[in-house]
Amino acid sequence: MRQDAYELLGVQRGADERAIKKAFRGLARELHPDVNNHDPKAEEKFKAAAEAYEVLSDPDRRALYDRAGWDGLDQRGYAQAGHGFGSFSDIFEAFFGGDPFGGGGGGPGPLQGGDIAVEVEISLEQAARSASVDVAYESVAPCERCHGNRAEPGTPIETCERCDGAGQLRAVTRTAFGQMVRAQACDVCGGEGKVATTPCSECAGRGLRAVRRELSVDIPAGIADGQRIRVTGRGHGGERGGPAGDLFVSVRVAEDQRFLRDGSDLVVVVDVAAPAAALGTKVTVPTLDGEEKVEVPAGTQPGTVVTLSGRGMPTIGRGRSGDQQVVLNVVVPRNLTPRQRELLAELRDSVTDENMSEAASESLLSKVRRALR
Ligand SMILES: [Zn+2]
Ligand SMILES: [Zn+2]
Repeated sequence: MRQDAYELLGVQRGADERAIKKAFRGLARELHPDVNNHDPKAEEKFKAAAEAYEVLSDPDRRALYDRAGWDGLDQRGYAQAGHGFGSFSDIFEAFFGGDPFGGGGGGPGPLQGGDIAVEVEISLEQAARSASVDVAYESVAPCERCHGNRAEPGTPIETCERCDGAGQLRAVTRTAFGQMVRAQACDVCGGEGKVATTPCSECAGRGLRAVRRELSVDIPAGIADGQRIRVTGRGHGGERGGPAGDLFVSVRVAEDQRFLRDGSDLVVVVDVAAPAAALGTKVTVPTLDGEEKVEVPAGTQPGTVVTLSGRGMPTIGRGRSGDQQVVLNVVVPRNLTPRQRELLAELRDSVTDENMSEAASESLLSKVRRALR
Protein backbone atom coordinates (compact mmCIF):
# COMPACT_ATOMS: atom_id res chain seq x y z
CA MET A 1 0.00 0.00 0.00
CA ARG A 2 1.40 3.37 -0.98
CA GLN A 3 2.08 5.86 1.75
CA ASP A 4 -0.27 8.80 2.09
CA ALA A 5 1.01 11.92 0.33
CA TYR A 6 0.32 14.15 3.34
CA GLU A 7 2.07 11.69 5.59
CA LEU A 8 5.07 11.54 3.26
CA LEU A 9 5.55 15.29 3.59
CA GLY A 10 4.55 15.36 7.25
CA VAL A 11 1.80 17.97 6.83
CA GLN A 12 -1.85 18.22 7.91
CA ARG A 13 -4.54 17.50 5.34
CA GLY A 14 -5.59 21.15 5.37
CA ALA A 15 -2.05 22.49 4.91
CA ASP A 16 -1.75 25.47 2.57
CA GLU A 17 0.60 25.74 -0.39
CA ARG A 18 3.30 27.47 1.62
CA ALA A 19 3.32 24.87 4.38
CA ILE A 20 3.58 22.12 1.77
CA LYS A 21 6.46 23.78 0.00
CA LYS A 22 8.21 24.43 3.29
CA ALA A 23 7.81 20.81 4.40
CA PHE A 24 9.18 19.57 1.10
CA ARG A 25 12.17 21.89 1.22
CA GLY A 26 12.95 20.69 4.72
CA LEU A 27 12.81 17.07 3.59
CA ALA A 28 14.95 17.80 0.56
CA ARG A 29 17.64 19.28 2.77
CA GLU A 30 17.49 16.34 5.12
CA LEU A 31 17.61 13.70 2.41
CA HIS A 32 20.28 15.27 0.27
CA PRO A 33 23.02 12.69 -0.29
CA ASP A 34 25.79 15.07 0.73
CA VAL A 35 24.26 15.20 4.17
CA ASN A 36 22.85 11.76 4.27
CA ASN A 37 25.48 9.52 2.76
CA HIS A 38 24.96 6.82 5.37
CA ASP A 39 21.37 6.28 4.27
CA PRO A 40 21.20 4.34 0.99
CA LYS A 41 17.42 4.80 0.94
CA ALA A 42 17.65 8.60 0.91
CA GLU A 43 17.21 8.87 -2.84
CA GLU A 44 14.20 6.56 -2.79
CA LYS A 45 12.65 8.50 0.08
CA PHE A 46 13.31 11.73 -1.72
CA LYS A 47 11.64 10.50 -4.89
CA ALA A 48 8.57 9.47 -2.89
CA ALA A 49 8.48 12.91 -1.27
CA ALA A 50 8.89 14.62 -4.66
CA GLU A 51 5.96 12.63 -5.99
CA ALA A 52 3.81 13.64 -3.03
CA TYR A 53 4.88 17.24 -3.53
CA GLU A 54 4.01 17.14 -7.21
CA VAL A 55 0.47 16.07 -6.35
CA LEU A 56 -0.17 18.34 -3.38
CA SER A 57 1.29 21.47 -4.97
CA ASP A 58 -1.12 21.26 -7.91
CA PRO A 59 -4.70 22.24 -6.91
CA ASP A 60 -6.34 19.97 -9.52
CA ARG A 61 -4.27 16.94 -8.69
CA ARG A 62 -4.62 17.56 -4.99
CA ALA A 63 -8.42 17.69 -5.27
CA LEU A 64 -8.40 14.44 -7.23
CA TYR A 65 -6.04 12.84 -4.72
CA ASP A 66 -8.24 13.95 -1.81
CA ARG A 67 -11.25 12.31 -3.48
CA ALA A 68 -9.73 9.18 -4.93
CA GLY A 69 -6.18 8.75 -3.63
CA TRP A 70 -3.22 7.44 -5.62
CA ASP A 71 -5.48 5.03 -7.54
CA GLY A 72 -7.55 7.95 -8.74
CA LEU A 73 -4.45 9.69 -10.08
CA ASP A 74 -3.23 6.52 -11.76
CA GLN A 75 -6.58 6.04 -13.49
CA ARG A 76 -6.42 9.55 -14.89
CA GLY A 77 -3.04 8.72 -16.32
CA TYR A 78 -0.95 11.12 -14.32
CA ALA A 79 2.64 10.12 -14.75
CA GLN A 80 4.68 9.62 -11.64
CA ALA A 81 7.02 12.48 -10.99
CA GLY A 82 10.11 10.49 -10.14
CA HIS A 83 10.20 8.91 -13.56
CA GLY A 84 10.76 12.15 -15.40
CA PHE A 85 14.04 12.76 -13.65
CA GLY A 86 17.42 11.27 -14.29
CA SER A 87 18.97 11.91 -10.94
CA PHE A 88 18.83 13.70 -7.68
CA SER A 89 20.41 16.82 -9.03
CA ASP A 90 17.77 16.99 -11.77
CA ILE A 91 15.08 16.99 -9.13
CA PHE A 92 16.81 19.70 -7.17
CA GLU A 93 17.31 21.74 -10.28
CA ALA A 94 13.63 21.51 -11.13
CA PHE A 95 12.55 22.63 -7.70
CA PHE A 96 15.24 24.93 -6.53
CA GLY A 97 16.95 26.15 -9.63
CA GLY A 98 20.34 24.57 -9.46
CA ASP A 99 21.42 25.16 -5.93
CA PRO A 100 19.70 22.95 -3.39
CA PHE A 101 20.80 24.93 -0.39
CA GLY A 102 21.12 28.42 -1.69
CA GLY A 103 17.45 29.29 -1.71
CA GLY A 104 16.95 29.29 -5.48
CA GLY A 105 18.48 31.43 -8.17
CA GLY A 106 22.17 32.26 -8.26
CA GLY A 107 21.89 36.02 -8.04
CA PRO A 108 24.77 38.13 -6.89
CA GLY A 109 23.53 38.17 -3.28
CA PRO A 110 25.20 36.38 -0.38
CA LEU A 111 25.18 32.63 -0.68
CA GLN A 112 25.34 30.21 2.21
CA GLY A 113 28.06 27.57 2.03
CA GLY A 114 27.16 23.91 1.60
CA ASP A 115 26.91 21.39 4.41
CA ILE A 116 29.55 18.73 4.98
CA ALA A 117 29.05 15.25 6.37
CA VAL A 118 31.78 13.31 8.17
CA GLU A 119 31.69 10.08 10.10
CA VAL A 120 33.51 9.18 13.30
CA GLU A 121 33.68 5.92 15.17
CA ILE A 122 33.83 5.78 18.95
CA SER A 123 33.89 2.96 21.48
CA LEU A 124 30.99 2.09 23.74
CA GLU A 125 33.00 3.44 26.68
CA GLN A 126 33.32 6.78 24.88
CA ALA A 127 29.61 6.77 24.15
CA ALA A 128 28.92 6.22 27.84
CA ARG A 129 30.91 9.25 28.92
CA SER A 130 30.96 12.50 27.05
CA ALA A 131 33.86 12.29 24.64
CA SER A 132 35.78 14.75 22.55
CA VAL A 133 36.70 13.46 19.10
CA ASP A 134 38.99 15.08 16.54
CA VAL A 135 37.67 15.18 12.99
CA ALA A 136 39.62 16.26 9.91
CA TYR A 137 37.92 17.19 6.65
CA GLU A 138 38.27 19.26 3.51
CA SER A 139 36.14 22.34 3.11
CA VAL A 140 35.88 25.22 0.72
CA ALA A 141 36.78 28.64 2.13
CA PRO A 142 37.08 32.10 0.60
CA CYS A 143 40.51 32.73 -0.90
CA GLU A 144 42.66 34.78 1.44
CA ARG A 145 44.57 36.55 -1.31
CA CYS A 146 41.57 38.05 -3.15
CA HIS A 147 39.10 37.81 -0.23
CA GLY A 148 36.77 35.91 -2.53
CA ASN A 149 36.44 38.64 -5.16
CA ARG A 150 38.41 36.58 -7.71
CA ALA A 151 40.68 39.38 -8.95
CA GLU A 152 44.42 39.67 -8.46
CA PRO A 153 44.77 42.38 -5.79
CA GLY A 154 45.10 45.80 -7.38
CA THR A 155 43.57 44.81 -10.76
CA PRO A 156 40.20 46.11 -12.01
CA ILE A 157 36.89 44.23 -11.84
CA GLU A 158 34.48 44.92 -14.69
CA THR A 159 30.76 44.42 -15.16
CA CYS A 160 29.99 41.12 -16.92
CA GLU A 161 28.90 41.70 -20.52
CA ARG A 162 26.98 38.48 -20.93
CA CYS A 163 24.48 39.09 -18.13
CA ASP A 164 24.87 42.84 -17.92
CA GLY A 165 25.84 42.60 -14.30
CA ALA A 166 22.68 40.76 -13.24
CA GLY A 167 24.54 37.54 -12.53
CA GLN A 168 21.59 35.54 -13.90
CA LEU A 169 20.37 34.26 -17.23
CA ARG A 170 16.77 33.22 -17.81
CA ALA A 171 16.39 29.71 -19.09
CA VAL A 172 13.32 27.72 -20.10
CA THR A 173 13.43 24.04 -19.25
CA ARG A 174 11.02 21.21 -19.83
CA THR A 175 10.46 18.96 -16.85
CA ALA A 176 7.85 16.45 -15.77
CA PHE A 177 6.08 19.42 -14.19
CA GLY A 178 5.70 21.16 -17.52
CA GLN A 179 7.59 24.14 -18.77
CA MET A 180 9.61 25.96 -16.19
CA VAL A 181 11.27 29.30 -16.46
CA ARG A 182 14.11 29.65 -14.09
CA ALA A 183 17.02 31.90 -13.45
CA GLN A 184 20.35 30.28 -14.00
CA ALA A 185 23.65 31.57 -12.74
CA CYS A 186 25.55 33.31 -15.56
CA ASP A 187 28.16 30.98 -17.02
CA VAL A 188 30.69 33.73 -17.64
CA CYS A 189 30.77 35.45 -14.25
CA GLY A 190 29.39 32.53 -12.23
CA GLY A 191 26.60 34.68 -10.80
CA GLU A 192 28.87 37.46 -9.66
CA GLY A 193 27.75 39.99 -12.24
CA LYS A 194 31.38 41.08 -12.37
CA VAL A 195 34.46 39.68 -14.03
CA ALA A 196 38.05 40.05 -12.93
CA THR A 197 40.31 41.23 -15.75
CA THR A 198 43.25 39.48 -14.10
CA PRO A 199 42.23 36.38 -12.16
CA CYS A 200 43.69 35.94 -8.68
CA SER A 201 46.90 33.90 -8.89
CA GLU A 202 46.23 32.04 -5.67
CA CYS A 203 42.78 30.61 -6.50
CA ALA A 204 42.89 30.93 -10.32
CA GLY A 205 39.94 33.32 -10.17
CA ARG A 206 37.59 30.95 -8.35
CA GLY A 207 37.49 33.08 -5.22
CA LEU A 208 37.53 29.90 -3.18
CA ARG A 209 40.10 27.35 -2.16
CA ALA A 210 40.06 23.97 -0.45
CA VAL A 211 41.30 23.95 3.10
CA ARG A 212 41.90 21.09 5.45
CA ARG A 213 40.22 21.62 8.77
CA GLU A 214 40.59 19.92 12.07
CA LEU A 215 38.00 20.24 14.71
CA SER A 216 37.40 18.78 18.12
CA VAL A 217 33.78 17.69 18.42
CA ASP A 218 32.09 17.11 21.77
CA ILE A 219 29.98 13.99 21.78
CA PRO A 220 27.29 13.91 24.45
CA ALA A 221 27.18 10.95 26.84
CA GLY A 222 24.61 8.36 25.83
CA ILE A 223 24.80 8.87 22.06
CA ALA A 224 23.49 5.95 20.01
CA ASP A 225 24.99 4.42 16.88
CA GLY A 226 23.99 6.40 13.76
CA GLN A 227 23.02 9.63 15.52
CA ARG A 228 24.26 12.87 14.00
CA ILE A 229 25.68 15.97 15.61
CA ARG A 230 25.27 19.28 13.83
CA VAL A 231 28.10 21.77 14.21
CA THR A 232 26.74 25.08 12.98
CA GLY A 233 28.91 27.16 10.67
CA ARG A 234 31.66 24.57 10.21
CA GLY A 235 30.71 23.48 6.69
CA HIS A 236 31.81 25.03 3.40
CA GLY A 237 32.45 28.76 3.48
CA GLY A 238 29.73 31.04 2.10
CA GLU A 239 30.17 33.20 -0.98
CA ARG A 240 29.82 36.96 -1.26
CA GLY A 241 29.60 37.35 2.50
CA GLY A 242 27.08 34.53 3.01
CA PRO A 243 27.25 32.38 6.14
CA ALA A 244 29.13 29.08 6.17
CA GLY A 245 27.24 25.79 5.93
CA ASP A 246 27.05 23.27 8.73
CA LEU A 247 29.10 20.22 9.56
CA PHE A 248 27.18 17.01 10.27
CA VAL A 249 29.12 14.47 12.28
CA SER A 250 27.58 11.07 12.03
CA VAL A 251 28.60 8.94 15.00
CA ARG A 252 29.17 5.21 14.75
CA VAL A 253 29.44 3.38 18.04
CA ALA A 254 31.66 0.33 17.55
CA GLU A 255 30.23 -3.01 18.58
CA ASP A 256 31.55 -4.21 21.89
CA GLN A 257 32.38 -7.90 22.30
CA ARG A 258 31.33 -7.85 25.94
CA PHE A 259 28.16 -5.77 26.01
CA LEU A 260 24.92 -5.79 24.12
CA ARG A 261 23.25 -2.40 24.19
CA ASP A 262 19.51 -2.34 24.64
CA GLY A 263 18.44 1.30 24.68
CA SER A 264 20.09 2.64 27.81
CA ASP A 265 20.54 -0.83 29.32
CA LEU A 266 23.62 -2.99 28.86
CA VAL A 267 23.37 -6.76 28.79
CA VAL A 268 26.23 -9.16 29.52
CA VAL A 269 26.15 -12.94 29.57
CA VAL A 270 28.37 -14.68 32.12
CA ASP A 271 29.01 -18.43 32.21
CA VAL A 272 28.65 -20.26 35.54
CA ALA A 273 29.49 -23.96 35.84
CA ALA A 274 26.41 -25.93 36.95
CA PRO A 275 27.99 -27.32 40.15
CA ALA A 276 29.12 -23.81 41.15
CA ALA A 277 25.62 -22.45 40.47
CA ALA A 278 24.20 -25.21 42.69
CA LEU A 279 26.61 -24.45 45.51
CA GLY A 280 26.67 -20.67 45.15
CA THR A 281 29.72 -18.70 43.97
CA LYS A 282 31.01 -15.35 42.80
CA VAL A 283 31.59 -14.45 39.14
CA THR A 284 33.67 -11.72 37.56
CA VAL A 285 31.52 -9.42 35.42
CA PRO A 286 32.79 -6.76 33.00
CA THR A 287 31.22 -3.33 33.53
CA LEU A 288 31.94 0.07 31.99
CA ASP A 289 33.88 0.86 35.17
CA GLY A 290 36.03 -2.28 35.05
CA GLU A 291 35.53 -5.78 36.35
CA GLU A 292 33.26 -6.46 39.25
CA LYS A 293 32.49 -9.48 41.48
CA VAL A 294 28.86 -10.50 41.47
CA GLU A 295 27.31 -12.90 43.96
CA VAL A 296 25.65 -16.00 42.52
CA PRO A 297 23.39 -17.46 45.22
CA ALA A 298 23.24 -21.23 45.79
CA GLY A 299 20.66 -22.88 43.52
CA THR A 300 20.87 -20.22 40.78
CA GLN A 301 19.01 -21.39 37.66
CA PRO A 302 20.00 -20.91 33.97
CA GLY A 303 18.92 -17.54 32.60
CA THR A 304 18.69 -15.81 35.96
CA VAL A 305 19.25 -12.09 35.53
CA VAL A 306 21.08 -10.01 38.08
CA THR A 307 20.53 -6.26 37.71
CA LEU A 308 23.36 -3.86 38.46
CA SER A 309 21.21 -0.82 38.93
CA GLY A 310 22.36 2.46 37.38
CA ARG A 311 25.33 0.83 35.65
CA GLY A 312 24.07 1.06 32.06
CA MET A 313 24.29 3.89 29.53
CA PRO A 314 23.28 7.48 30.26
CA THR A 315 20.43 9.12 28.37
CA ILE A 316 21.44 12.17 26.31
CA GLY A 317 20.68 15.39 28.11
CA ARG A 318 19.24 13.65 31.15
CA GLY A 319 22.33 11.94 32.49
CA ARG A 320 20.17 9.27 34.08
CA SER A 321 21.81 5.90 33.69
CA GLY A 322 20.20 2.69 32.53
CA ASP A 323 20.95 -0.62 34.22
CA GLN A 324 23.36 -3.41 33.47
CA GLN A 325 21.66 -6.78 33.21
CA VAL A 326 23.87 -9.77 33.96
CA VAL A 327 22.46 -12.96 32.45
CA LEU A 328 23.80 -16.01 34.28
CA ASN A 329 24.37 -18.74 31.73
CA VAL A 330 24.59 -21.94 33.73
CA VAL A 331 26.79 -24.35 31.78
CA VAL A 332 26.59 -28.11 32.18
CA PRO A 333 30.13 -29.61 32.26
CA ARG A 334 31.27 -31.53 29.15
CA ASN A 335 34.23 -33.81 28.34
CA LEU A 336 34.13 -35.44 31.75
CA THR A 337 37.07 -37.35 33.25
CA PRO A 338 36.30 -40.80 34.68
CA ARG A 339 36.47 -39.36 38.20
CA GLN A 340 34.01 -36.59 37.34
CA ARG A 341 31.62 -39.13 35.81
CA GLU A 342 31.77 -41.09 38.99
CA LEU A 343 31.00 -38.06 41.14
CA LEU A 344 28.15 -36.92 38.90
CA ALA A 345 26.64 -40.40 38.77
CA GLU A 346 26.66 -40.43 42.53
CA LEU A 347 25.06 -36.97 42.61
CA ARG A 348 22.45 -38.00 40.02
CA ASP A 349 21.43 -41.00 42.07
CA SER A 350 21.08 -38.86 45.17
CA VAL A 351 18.89 -36.15 43.59
CA THR A 352 15.33 -36.10 44.91
CA ASP A 353 12.18 -34.17 44.00
CA GLU A 354 13.06 -31.86 46.83
CA ASN A 355 16.22 -30.80 44.91
CA MET A 356 14.19 -30.06 41.80
CA SER A 357 11.42 -27.96 43.37
CA GLU A 358 11.48 -24.27 42.71
CA ALA A 359 11.68 -22.26 45.85
CA ALA A 360 10.44 -19.02 44.34
CA SER A 361 8.15 -21.01 41.98
CA GLU A 362 9.05 -18.95 38.94
CA SER A 363 8.13 -20.69 35.70
CA LEU A 364 10.78 -21.40 33.08
CA LEU A 365 8.79 -19.35 30.59
CA SER A 366 8.95 -16.22 32.70
CA LYS A 367 12.65 -16.78 33.25
CA VAL A 368 13.24 -17.08 29.50
CA ARG A 369 11.24 -13.92 28.96
CA ARG A 370 13.37 -12.15 31.48
CA ALA A 371 16.61 -13.42 29.94
CA LEU A 372 15.57 -12.45 26.41
CA ARG A 373 14.06 -9.11 27.33
ZN1 LIG B 1 41.91 34.37 -4.86
ZN1 LIG C 1 27.64 37.37 -16.09
